[in-house]
Amino acid sequence: MRGVAILGSTGSIGCSTLAVLRRHPERFRLVALTGGANRSRLAEQVREWQPAYAALAADDENGTSCLLEAVRQPGVDIVVNAVVGFAGLEATLAALRAGKRVALANKESLVVAGELVERARLEGGGQLVPVDSEHSAILQCLAERPAAVSRIILTASGGPFREWPADRVVAATVDQALNHPTWRMGAKITVDSATLANKALEVIEGHFLFGVPYQSIEVVVHPQSVVHGLVEFEDGSVLAQVGFPSMELPILYALGYPERLPDAGVRRFDPVAAGALTFEPVRAEVFRAFPLGVAAGRAGGTAPAVFNAANEVAVARFLDGRLPFGRIAEVIEAVLGRHRIEPVRDLESVKAADRWARAAAEKEVG
Ligand code: NAD
Ligand code: MG
Repeated sequence: MRGVAILGSTGSIGCSTLAVLRRHPERFRLVALTGGANRSRLAEQVREWQPAYAALAADDENGTSCLLEAVRQPGVDIVVNAVVGFAGLEATLAALRAGKRVALANKESLVVAGELVERARLEGGGQLVPVDSEHSAILQCLAERPAAVSRIILTASGGPFREWPADRVVAATVDQALNHPTWRMGAKITVDSATLANKALEVIEGHFLFGVPYQSIEVVVHPQSVVHGLVEFEDGSVLAQVGFPSMELPILYALGYPERLPDAGVRRFDPVAAGALTFEPVRAEVFRAFPLGVAAGRAGGTAPAVFNAANEVAVARFLDGRLPFGRIAEVIEAVLGRHRIEPVRDLESVKAADRWARAAAEKEVG
Protein backbone atom coordinates (compact mmCIF):
# COMPACT_ATOMS: atom_id res chain seq x y z
CA MET A 1 0.00 0.00 0.00
CA ARG A 2 1.63 3.27 -1.11
CA GLY A 3 0.53 6.72 0.03
CA VAL A 4 -0.14 9.29 -2.70
CA ALA A 5 -0.28 13.09 -2.67
CA ILE A 6 -1.78 14.81 -5.72
CA LEU A 7 -0.73 18.41 -6.30
CA GLY A 8 -3.15 20.05 -8.73
CA SER A 9 -5.88 17.47 -8.10
CA THR A 10 -8.62 19.65 -9.62
CA GLY A 11 -6.96 19.85 -13.05
CA SER A 12 -6.99 17.55 -16.03
CA ILE A 13 -4.09 15.31 -14.90
CA GLY A 14 -5.26 15.50 -11.27
CA CYS A 15 -8.73 14.20 -12.17
CA SER A 16 -7.29 11.48 -14.42
CA THR A 17 -5.04 10.40 -11.52
CA LEU A 18 -8.08 10.07 -9.26
CA ALA A 19 -9.80 7.98 -11.95
CA VAL A 20 -6.80 5.62 -11.93
CA LEU A 21 -6.65 5.48 -8.10
CA ARG A 22 -10.37 4.60 -7.95
CA ARG A 23 -9.54 1.35 -9.77
CA HIS A 24 -6.61 0.46 -7.46
CA PRO A 25 -7.74 0.85 -3.87
CA GLU A 26 -5.67 -2.19 -2.82
CA ARG A 27 -2.41 -0.61 -4.05
CA PHE A 28 -2.68 3.10 -3.26
CA ARG A 29 -4.05 5.25 -0.47
CA LEU A 30 -4.76 8.92 -1.14
CA VAL A 31 -3.16 11.00 1.62
CA ALA A 32 -3.16 14.59 0.37
CA LEU A 33 -4.82 16.78 -2.25
CA THR A 34 -4.20 20.36 -3.37
CA GLY A 35 -6.13 22.42 -5.88
CA GLY A 36 -5.45 25.87 -7.32
CA ALA A 37 -8.66 27.88 -7.25
CA ASN A 38 -11.53 25.49 -8.01
CA ARG A 39 -13.02 25.32 -4.52
CA SER A 40 -16.15 23.34 -5.32
CA ARG A 41 -14.29 20.60 -7.19
CA LEU A 42 -11.77 20.28 -4.37
CA ALA A 43 -14.64 20.05 -1.85
CA GLU A 44 -16.21 17.25 -3.92
CA GLN A 45 -12.89 15.38 -3.99
CA VAL A 46 -12.46 15.77 -0.23
CA ARG A 47 -15.96 14.35 0.35
CA GLU A 48 -15.19 11.32 -1.80
CA TRP A 49 -11.63 10.58 -0.63
CA GLN A 50 -11.44 11.92 2.93
CA PRO A 51 -7.69 12.65 2.64
CA ALA A 52 -5.64 13.48 5.75
CA TYR A 53 -4.70 16.81 4.13
CA ALA A 54 -6.37 19.07 1.56
CA ALA A 55 -5.70 22.70 0.65
CA LEU A 56 -6.41 25.33 -1.95
CA ALA A 57 -3.37 27.25 -3.28
CA ALA A 58 -5.54 30.35 -3.73
CA ASP A 59 -5.95 30.50 0.09
CA ASP A 60 -2.20 30.21 0.55
CA GLU A 61 -0.28 33.44 1.14
CA ASN A 62 2.94 32.07 -0.31
CA GLY A 63 1.31 30.14 -3.11
CA THR A 64 3.56 27.11 -2.71
CA SER A 65 3.55 26.40 1.03
CA CYS A 66 0.44 24.21 0.80
CA LEU A 67 2.17 22.16 -1.92
CA LEU A 68 5.15 21.65 0.38
CA GLU A 69 2.87 20.72 3.29
CA ALA A 70 1.10 18.15 1.14
CA VAL A 71 4.47 16.64 0.17
CA ARG A 72 5.49 16.41 3.85
CA GLN A 73 2.37 14.63 5.09
CA PRO A 74 3.23 11.41 6.92
CA GLY A 75 2.72 8.35 4.77
CA VAL A 76 3.26 10.06 1.40
CA ASP A 77 5.42 7.80 -0.81
CA ILE A 78 4.44 9.15 -4.22
CA VAL A 79 3.87 12.79 -5.15
CA VAL A 80 1.92 13.28 -8.37
CA ASN A 81 2.93 16.78 -9.42
CA ALA A 82 0.08 17.90 -11.69
CA VAL A 83 0.42 21.63 -11.04
CA VAL A 84 0.83 23.75 -14.16
CA GLY A 85 3.84 26.03 -14.63
CA PHE A 86 6.78 27.31 -12.57
CA ALA A 87 4.63 27.05 -9.42
CA GLY A 88 5.34 23.30 -9.35
CA LEU A 89 9.13 23.56 -9.04
CA GLU A 90 9.67 23.76 -5.29
CA ALA A 91 7.36 20.82 -4.59
CA THR A 92 9.32 18.66 -7.06
CA LEU A 93 12.59 19.59 -5.35
CA ALA A 94 11.19 19.03 -1.84
CA ALA A 95 9.72 15.63 -2.69
CA LEU A 96 12.95 14.37 -4.29
CA ARG A 97 15.03 15.68 -1.39
CA ALA A 98 12.74 13.79 0.98
CA GLY A 99 13.42 10.58 -0.97
CA LYS A 100 9.94 10.25 -2.46
CA ARG A 101 8.86 9.25 -5.91
CA VAL A 102 7.70 12.16 -8.04
CA ALA A 103 5.27 11.18 -10.79
CA LEU A 104 5.99 14.27 -12.84
CA ALA A 105 3.36 15.87 -15.04
CA ASN A 106 4.74 19.33 -14.21
CA LYS A 107 7.38 19.30 -16.96
CA GLU A 108 8.11 22.97 -16.23
CA SER A 109 10.03 21.85 -13.08
CA LEU A 110 12.59 20.05 -15.20
CA VAL A 111 12.72 22.71 -17.88
CA VAL A 112 13.46 25.62 -15.55
CA ALA A 113 15.81 23.82 -13.16
CA GLY A 114 16.89 20.49 -14.63
CA GLU A 115 20.26 20.60 -12.84
CA LEU A 116 18.68 21.37 -9.46
CA VAL A 117 16.08 18.64 -9.87
CA GLU A 118 18.85 16.14 -10.65
CA ARG A 119 20.85 17.32 -7.63
CA ALA A 120 17.81 16.98 -5.34
CA ARG A 121 17.19 13.48 -6.65
CA LEU A 122 20.79 12.39 -6.03
CA GLU A 123 20.97 13.97 -2.58
CA GLY A 124 17.60 12.75 -1.36
CA GLY A 125 17.49 9.39 -3.11
CA GLY A 126 14.09 10.19 -4.62
CA GLN A 127 12.82 8.86 -7.91
CA LEU A 128 11.63 10.84 -10.89
CA VAL A 129 9.13 9.09 -13.15
CA PRO A 130 7.53 10.96 -16.05
CA VAL A 131 3.77 11.24 -16.55
CA ASP A 132 4.11 13.08 -19.87
CA SER A 133 2.97 10.49 -22.44
CA GLU A 134 5.98 10.86 -24.74
CA HIS A 135 8.47 10.44 -21.92
CA SER A 136 6.54 7.56 -20.42
CA ALA A 137 6.80 5.94 -23.87
CA ILE A 138 10.57 6.51 -23.96
CA LEU A 139 10.98 5.11 -20.43
CA GLN A 140 8.99 2.02 -21.40
CA CYS A 141 11.06 1.51 -24.57
CA LEU A 142 14.34 1.95 -22.69
CA ALA A 143 13.48 -0.96 -20.41
CA GLU A 144 16.64 -0.48 -18.32
CA ARG A 145 18.95 -0.44 -21.34
CA PRO A 146 19.83 3.28 -21.51
CA ALA A 147 23.48 2.57 -22.42
CA ALA A 148 22.73 1.31 -25.93
CA VAL A 149 20.52 4.24 -26.96
CA SER A 150 21.53 6.30 -29.98
CA ARG A 151 18.45 8.52 -30.44
CA ILE A 152 15.08 9.29 -28.91
CA ILE A 153 12.17 10.53 -30.99
CA LEU A 154 9.24 12.39 -29.44
CA THR A 155 6.01 12.59 -31.38
CA ALA A 156 3.87 15.74 -31.61
CA SER A 157 0.24 15.85 -32.70
CA GLY A 158 1.00 19.10 -34.53
CA GLY A 159 -1.91 20.81 -32.78
CA PRO A 160 -5.02 22.35 -34.35
CA PHE A 161 -3.05 24.51 -36.83
CA ARG A 162 -0.85 21.78 -38.25
CA GLU A 163 -2.07 22.30 -41.81
CA TRP A 164 -2.98 25.97 -41.65
CA PRO A 165 -1.14 28.51 -43.81
CA ALA A 166 1.19 30.77 -41.79
CA ASP A 167 -0.93 33.92 -42.29
CA ARG A 168 -3.99 32.21 -40.76
CA VAL A 169 -2.02 30.78 -37.83
CA VAL A 170 -0.87 34.21 -36.62
CA ALA A 171 -4.50 35.36 -36.35
CA ALA A 172 -5.87 32.22 -34.63
CA THR A 173 -8.46 32.88 -31.90
CA VAL A 174 -8.52 31.52 -28.34
CA ASP A 175 -11.37 29.12 -29.19
CA GLN A 176 -9.47 27.79 -32.17
CA ALA A 177 -6.30 27.32 -30.11
CA LEU A 178 -8.21 25.51 -27.35
CA ASN A 179 -9.72 23.05 -29.82
CA HIS A 180 -7.02 20.36 -29.73
CA PRO A 181 -7.54 17.53 -32.25
CA THR A 182 -6.50 14.56 -30.08
CA TRP A 183 -6.10 15.51 -26.38
CA ARG A 184 -8.34 17.18 -23.76
CA MET A 185 -6.05 19.06 -21.37
CA GLY A 186 -5.73 22.22 -19.29
CA ALA A 187 -5.76 25.55 -21.16
CA LYS A 188 -2.04 26.37 -20.81
CA ILE A 189 -0.71 23.10 -22.24
CA THR A 190 -3.40 23.18 -24.95
CA VAL A 191 -2.12 26.55 -26.17
CA ASP A 192 1.46 25.24 -25.86
CA SER A 193 0.43 22.38 -28.14
CA ALA A 194 -0.97 24.84 -30.69
CA THR A 195 2.26 26.92 -30.72
CA LEU A 196 4.44 23.79 -30.37
CA ALA A 197 6.16 25.42 -27.37
CA ASN A 198 5.04 22.25 -25.58
CA LYS A 199 7.28 20.13 -27.77
CA ALA A 200 10.28 22.37 -27.00
CA LEU A 201 9.51 21.98 -23.28
CA GLU A 202 9.40 18.22 -23.87
CA VAL A 203 12.76 18.16 -25.67
CA ILE A 204 14.32 19.87 -22.63
CA GLU A 205 12.39 17.55 -20.31
CA GLY A 206 13.72 14.54 -22.23
CA HIS A 207 17.29 15.84 -22.09
CA PHE A 208 17.22 16.05 -18.30
CA LEU A 209 15.12 12.94 -17.65
CA PHE A 210 17.17 10.56 -19.74
CA GLY A 211 20.54 12.33 -19.88
CA VAL A 212 20.45 12.30 -23.67
CA PRO A 213 22.32 15.10 -25.53
CA TYR A 214 20.17 17.51 -27.53
CA GLN A 215 21.57 16.37 -30.88
CA SER A 216 20.16 12.89 -30.16
CA ILE A 217 16.58 14.08 -29.48
CA GLU A 218 14.26 14.45 -32.46
CA VAL A 219 10.66 15.49 -32.86
CA VAL A 220 8.29 14.24 -35.54
CA VAL A 221 4.71 15.28 -36.16
CA HIS A 222 2.28 12.38 -35.90
CA PRO A 223 -1.31 13.68 -36.09
CA GLN A 224 -3.04 10.51 -34.81
CA SER A 225 -1.24 10.60 -31.39
CA VAL A 226 -1.03 6.80 -31.34
CA VAL A 227 2.76 6.34 -31.35
CA HIS A 228 3.88 8.27 -28.26
CA GLY A 229 7.64 7.94 -28.48
CA LEU A 230 10.41 5.94 -30.15
CA VAL A 231 13.90 4.88 -29.07
CA GLU A 232 16.64 3.97 -31.52
CA PHE A 233 19.39 1.69 -30.23
CA GLU A 234 22.97 1.55 -31.42
CA ASP A 235 22.31 -1.40 -33.74
CA GLY A 236 19.65 0.65 -35.59
CA SER A 237 16.68 -1.14 -34.05
CA VAL A 238 13.79 1.14 -33.07
CA LEU A 239 11.19 0.45 -30.36
CA ALA A 240 7.98 2.45 -30.05
CA GLN A 241 5.22 2.60 -27.45
CA VAL A 242 1.71 2.71 -28.88
CA GLY A 243 -1.82 3.28 -27.61
CA PHE A 244 -4.95 5.36 -28.06
CA PRO A 245 -4.42 8.81 -26.57
CA SER A 246 -5.22 8.69 -22.84
CA MET A 247 -3.21 10.02 -19.91
CA GLU A 248 -4.46 7.27 -17.62
CA LEU A 249 -1.92 4.76 -18.94
CA PRO A 250 1.18 6.93 -18.35
CA ILE A 251 -0.23 7.92 -14.93
CA LEU A 252 -0.77 4.25 -14.01
CA TYR A 253 2.73 3.38 -15.23
CA ALA A 254 4.29 6.20 -13.17
CA LEU A 255 2.42 5.07 -10.05
CA GLY A 256 3.29 1.38 -10.44
CA TYR A 257 6.78 1.72 -11.97
CA PRO A 258 8.70 -0.49 -12.58
CA GLU A 259 5.76 -2.88 -12.26
CA ARG A 260 2.90 -3.00 -14.74
CA LEU A 261 -0.39 -3.09 -12.88
CA PRO A 262 -3.33 -4.90 -14.45
CA ASP A 263 -6.04 -2.40 -15.36
CA ALA A 264 -9.14 -3.20 -17.36
CA GLY A 265 -10.11 0.47 -17.35
CA VAL A 266 -7.50 1.48 -19.94
CA ARG A 267 -8.95 1.37 -23.46
CA ARG A 268 -7.41 -1.55 -25.36
CA PHE A 269 -5.50 -0.80 -28.53
CA ASP A 270 -7.01 -1.87 -31.84
CA PRO A 271 -4.66 -1.42 -34.81
CA VAL A 272 -7.46 -1.63 -37.38
CA ALA A 273 -9.52 1.01 -35.57
CA ALA A 274 -6.38 3.18 -35.30
CA GLY A 275 -6.08 3.11 -39.09
CA ALA A 276 -3.27 4.79 -40.99
CA LEU A 277 -0.43 6.23 -38.93
CA THR A 278 1.40 9.12 -40.59
CA PHE A 279 4.54 11.13 -39.81
CA GLU A 280 5.76 14.47 -41.09
CA PRO A 281 8.39 17.08 -40.17
CA VAL A 282 7.71 20.00 -37.80
CA ARG A 283 7.03 23.29 -39.67
CA ALA A 284 9.58 25.15 -37.56
CA GLU A 285 9.35 28.30 -39.70
CA VAL A 286 5.63 28.63 -38.82
CA PHE A 287 5.73 27.41 -35.22
CA ARG A 288 8.63 29.59 -34.06
CA ALA A 289 8.22 28.83 -30.36
CA PHE A 290 9.52 25.33 -31.07
CA PRO A 291 13.00 26.21 -32.44
CA LEU A 292 13.28 29.07 -29.91
CA GLY A 293 12.67 26.70 -27.01
CA VAL A 294 15.04 24.04 -28.31
CA ALA A 295 17.74 26.69 -28.79
CA ALA A 296 17.18 27.88 -25.21
CA GLY A 297 17.58 24.28 -24.02
CA ARG A 298 20.84 23.92 -25.92
CA ALA A 299 22.09 27.26 -24.58
CA GLY A 300 21.45 25.95 -21.07
CA GLY A 301 21.92 27.85 -17.81
CA THR A 302 19.03 30.21 -17.13
CA ALA A 303 17.90 30.27 -20.81
CA PRO A 304 15.26 27.51 -20.47
CA ALA A 305 13.80 29.20 -17.36
CA VAL A 306 13.55 32.45 -19.33
CA PHE A 307 11.94 30.67 -22.27
CA ASN A 308 9.44 29.08 -19.90
CA ALA A 309 8.55 32.30 -18.05
CA ALA A 310 8.17 34.35 -21.23
CA ASN A 311 5.96 31.61 -22.64
CA GLU A 312 3.81 31.42 -19.47
CA VAL A 313 3.22 35.18 -19.58
CA ALA A 314 2.55 35.27 -23.34
CA VAL A 315 0.09 32.36 -23.12
CA ALA A 316 -1.75 33.98 -20.18
CA ARG A 317 -2.07 37.24 -22.12
CA PHE A 318 -3.24 35.37 -25.22
CA LEU A 319 -5.92 33.65 -23.13
CA ASP A 320 -6.88 37.08 -21.66
CA GLY A 321 -7.41 38.36 -25.20
CA ARG A 322 -4.55 40.86 -24.86
CA LEU A 323 -2.05 39.24 -27.23
CA PRO A 324 -2.59 37.83 -30.74
CA PHE A 325 -1.59 34.19 -31.24
CA GLY A 326 1.17 35.16 -33.66
CA ARG A 327 2.78 37.42 -31.04
CA ILE A 328 3.39 34.60 -28.51
CA ALA A 329 6.61 33.49 -30.22
CA GLU A 330 7.64 37.12 -30.84
CA VAL A 331 7.39 37.92 -27.12
CA ILE A 332 9.46 34.84 -26.29
CA GLU A 333 12.08 35.74 -28.89
CA ALA A 334 12.35 39.35 -27.71
CA VAL A 335 12.74 38.33 -24.05
CA LEU A 336 15.34 35.63 -24.83
CA GLY A 337 17.19 38.15 -27.00
CA ARG A 338 17.56 40.53 -24.06
CA HIS A 339 18.59 37.89 -21.52
CA ARG A 340 22.17 37.46 -20.32
CA ILE A 341 22.46 33.74 -19.60
CA GLU A 342 23.77 32.82 -16.15
CA PRO A 343 24.60 29.39 -14.77
CA VAL A 344 21.90 27.79 -12.59
CA ARG A 345 23.58 27.79 -9.17
CA ASP A 346 20.65 27.46 -6.83
CA LEU A 347 16.92 27.96 -6.52
CA GLU A 348 17.39 31.70 -6.06
CA SER A 349 19.17 32.07 -9.42
CA VAL A 350 16.28 30.27 -11.16
CA LYS A 351 13.70 32.39 -9.34
CA ALA A 352 15.59 35.56 -10.29
CA ALA A 353 15.67 34.56 -13.98
CA ASP A 354 11.96 33.68 -13.82
CA ARG A 355 11.06 37.04 -12.24
CA TRP A 356 13.19 38.98 -14.70
CA ALA A 357 11.68 37.18 -17.70
CA ARG A 358 8.10 37.66 -16.47
CA ALA A 359 8.63 41.40 -16.11
CA ALA A 360 10.36 41.59 -19.49
CA ALA A 361 7.54 39.65 -21.15
CA GLU A 362 4.81 41.81 -19.58
CA LYS A 363 6.64 44.88 -20.89
CA GLU A 364 6.90 43.33 -24.34
CA VAL A 365 3.14 42.59 -24.33
CA GLY A 366 2.59 46.27 -23.47
P1 NAD B 1 -4.84 22.10 -15.49
O1 NAD B 1 -4.84 23.55 -15.70
O2 NAD B 1 -6.01 21.30 -15.92
O3 NAD B 1 -4.59 21.79 -13.93
C1 NAD B 1 -3.58 22.42 -13.19
C2 NAD B 1 -3.77 22.17 -11.71
O4 NAD B 1 -2.82 22.97 -10.98
C3 NAD B 1 -5.15 22.60 -11.18
O5 NAD B 1 -5.51 21.78 -10.09
C4 NAD B 1 -4.88 24.02 -10.72
O6 NAD B 1 -5.85 24.44 -9.78
C5 NAD B 1 -3.51 23.88 -10.10
N1 NAD B 1 -2.75 25.13 -10.09
C6 NAD B 1 -2.68 26.07 -11.07
N2 NAD B 1 -1.87 27.07 -10.71
C7 NAD B 1 -1.41 26.77 -9.47
C8 NAD B 1 -0.52 27.41 -8.56
N3 NAD B 1 0.05 28.60 -8.85
N4 NAD B 1 -0.26 26.81 -7.38
C9 NAD B 1 -0.82 25.62 -7.08
N5 NAD B 1 -1.67 24.96 -7.89
C10 NAD B 1 -1.95 25.53 -9.09
O7 NAD B 1 -3.50 21.54 -16.18
P2 NAD B 1 -3.20 20.05 -16.69
O8 NAD B 1 -3.57 19.94 -18.11
O9 NAD B 1 -3.70 19.06 -15.73
O10 NAD B 1 -1.60 20.08 -16.66
C11 NAD B 1 -0.87 19.98 -15.45
C12 NAD B 1 0.60 19.71 -15.79
O11 NAD B 1 0.68 18.47 -16.47
C13 NAD B 1 1.20 20.75 -16.73
O12 NAD B 1 2.56 20.93 -16.39
C14 NAD B 1 1.10 20.09 -18.09
O13 NAD B 1 2.10 20.53 -18.96
C15 NAD B 1 1.31 18.63 -17.73
N6 NAD B 1 0.73 17.69 -18.67
C16 NAD B 1 -0.61 17.66 -18.87
C17 NAD B 1 -1.16 16.74 -19.78
C18 NAD B 1 -2.66 16.62 -19.95
O14 NAD B 1 -3.11 15.73 -20.66
N7 NAD B 1 -3.47 17.46 -19.34
C19 NAD B 1 -0.32 15.88 -20.49
C20 NAD B 1 1.05 15.94 -20.28
C21 NAD B 1 1.56 16.85 -19.36
MG1 MG C 1 3.34 15.34 -23.81
